Amino acid sequence: MTAQTDESPHVVVLGGGLARVGCAHRLADEGVRVTLVDRNDYHQFQPLLYQVATSQLPAEDIARPHRTIFREHPTVGIRTADVAEIDVANRTLTLSDGDRITGTHLVVAAGARPEYFGVPGAAEHAFPLYSVADAERLRRHLQSTIHTGSETAGALDVVVVGGGPTGVEITGALTELMAALVATERISKPGTIIVVERGKTLLGAFSKKSHKYARKRLAEHGADPRLGTGVAAVHADRVELDDGSTIRTRTVIWGGGESAASVVGSTTGLTIGRGGRIDVQPDLGVEGRPHVYAIGDVANIPGRHGTILPQLGSVAQQSGVWAADNILRELHGDKRKPFHYKDKGIMAMIGRNAAVAEVGRHRHQVEGPVAFAAWLGVHAMLLSGAHSKTDAFVSWAWDYFDRDHAATVEWSGTPRRIAWGDESADIPHIIVDELAQSPIQGIRQPPNPAGTRSAAAGPQVPGS
Ligand SMILES: Cc1cc2nc3c(=O)[nH]c(=O)nc-3n(C[C@H](O)[C@H](O)[C@H](O)COP(=O)(O)OP(=O)(O)OC[C@H]3O[C@@H](n4cnc5c(N)ncnc54)[C@H](O)[C@@H]3O)c2cc1C
Repeated sequence: MTAQTDESPHVVVLGGGLARVGCAHRLADEGVRVTLVDRNDYHQFQPLLYQVATSQLPAEDIARPHRTIFREHPTVGIRTADVAEIDVANRTLTLSDGDRITGTHLVVAAGARPEYFGVPGAAEHAFPLYSVADAERLRRHLQSTIHTGSETAGALDVVVVGGGPTGVEITGALTELMAALVATERISKPGTIIVVERGKTLLGAFSKKSHKYARKRLAEHGADPRLGTGVAAVHADRVELDDGSTIRTRTVIWGGGESAASVVGSTTGLTIGRGGRIDVQPDLGVEGRPHVYAIGDVANIPGRHGTILPQLGSVAQQSGVWAADNILRELHGDKRKPFHYKDKGIMAMIGRNAAVAEVGRHRHQVEGPVAFAAWLGVHAMLLSGAHSKTDAFVSWAWDYFDRDHAATVEWSGTPRRIAWGDESADIPHIIVDELAQSPIQGIRQPPNPAGTRSAAAGPQVPGS
């Protein structure tokens, strides 16, 4: 399939996440004109969100302005805007201000959003963890809860919904935060972190050995896994479970599932499948829509033996490069090729000195420092699309994994930063829709703070 057009190629990419990093870089290296549209003027690295939420990294350390990333690529234009509609037939994006952007090719890389599965109160009261704004909002909430409620019984208890990698990682980090606060005498007794999972195990997609490892490590740190029950309703001060029990809490973190970005729901002419995601062909193209692709978390990408590839950073990044290569093939009059995913394995960091990974074709299971090394290699590679100094990340991460940071959480000092060595122009402008108690460099308030605390509470929350 070739682009039958007299126009010079212009690829419009919706979404500036990991999928876009792979795609736009590849096209820009070939001198193709690209317009990147994202509601944020920065790229965010989701795998480190829970470190921000638990005060182990400042938010601006895991976000990087698109303009900085593409500084040396003059063919890449950046447009910071919310996309209201996608016209796949005409490869046109309509922005919320009414402007339209049309390309010879369109790549949809709009990512995902939390899916609350209709659980009453979840959208209003639970904290999602999908963007740096979400992580910063949760960090401020925890800070204010600890300041105001530490002496009240149960005030610091947290319910984490979902025992997948997101739930397990944030649970591990929260238990460490509580231990650090006790060690530095900020609180006298740690809050309990309760992780609620409908399935019978934590880390369901992993092997039995990993299930046991995750459960043991979390239990050692005082977490309370409640397996085999789901969340029936979320209120401002409690959570109701399917088994009829109630847990009193002011903090509910949602790691219970995700679906495609909301803009997909207001788009016609796409085949929508599981998770509200766009079903794509093996070559990442949208069926019946020439020159339109969907990549990363927004797409159901076919894997081996009729499976769908998981929503992972490596899938997003590799599918981005592959879509770019297929666009280049089209431009050269060649046939597009089916996507081949190089599986990097599955892994989760449960806390310091505790990680689990399953790597290779036969999913070889490793734990502890070896698993952490695997995690580090994969994540340094994912970060390399936005940062050239991945050695700074590697050095920060080993220090994080190895050392007892009890005294260095933000409450008692400055968290150890990643030494990116960025100039002030490279610091992103992160907008958080909640009143800040203390302004943080790189983070500003919206002109009219909405005062809501949950990203899902309103459609206009930036960064979610
Ligand atoms: C808490 C958490 C931890 C994770 N940990 C890991 C991990 O350890 N390892 C791993 O491999 N993967 C991990 N993942 C998954 C991984 O981060 C994702 O698979 C990957 O980031 C998806 O990339 P993407 O480009 O498809 O989407 P995203 O990175 O979500 O990017 C989508 C972009 O589209 C923009 N956008 C969406 N809608 C609009 C609109 N209407 N208008 C304008 N812009 C819009 C968004 O602002 C965003 O920048 C984690 C995910 C989360 C949430």
